[in-house]
Amino acid sequence: MVENADVGRMLALPKLRFGYDALQPYMSEQQLTLHHAKHHQAYVNGANALFDTMDKARKDGTDVDAKAAAKALSFNLGGHVLHSLFWENLSPAGKHSSEPAGDLAKAIASEFGGFDRFKKEFAQAAASVEGSGWAVLAHDRGTGRLIILQVEKHNVNVVPGLRPLLVLDVWEHAYYLDYKNDRAKYIDAFWNIADWDEAARRLGE
Ligand code: MN
Repeated sequence: MVENADVGRMLALPKLRFGYDALQPYMSEQQLTLHHAKHHQAYVNGANALFDTMDKARKDGTDVDAKAAAKALSFNLGGHVLHSLFWENLSPAGKHSSEPAGDLAKAIASEFGGFDRFKKEFAQAAASVEGSGWAVLAHDRGTGRLIILQVEKHNVNVVPGLRPLLVLDVWEHAYYLDYKNDRAKYIDAFWNIADWDEAARRLGE
């Protein structure tokens, strides 16, 4: 999880490694600004409010609605974690490897038969997420396999313990200003700003 060390036990909105205008023309300044400063911030605020509620209840010896709290925390904290991973696996076109290299390239070739086949499967997963959600390329350390996940909302269809290598937000709030309802066009644009150096770094961790 990405969080600033100085915020202690509360979450903070992580700073982007690039300017709001740096991903253009694939992601506009207005789209990225709203997505990061408003939408991601809302998940940070939501999770912190829950932490605050639970801290107070524990201090006062009162009960919280356990089911509602667990559900809301999974959603908001999941949203924070996924968005933090997303910003870090994006970078301006030309500032990163446009294809996987090294061990990640080998793993993709072994699992999918090649990079083009992987891109096709990942794009299909992203395009067919029902409602709001994410496409995730993840690594299962147990089997060594690469797995494509289709996460609904921020927390449904998650497999615990898998390491996310590359995530793509396909909520409408991620692309609607730039691409309207054309999710496929947004997915296509994503390949220009997907940072394979970061994905490889995650595999090596
Ligand atoms: Mn989002």
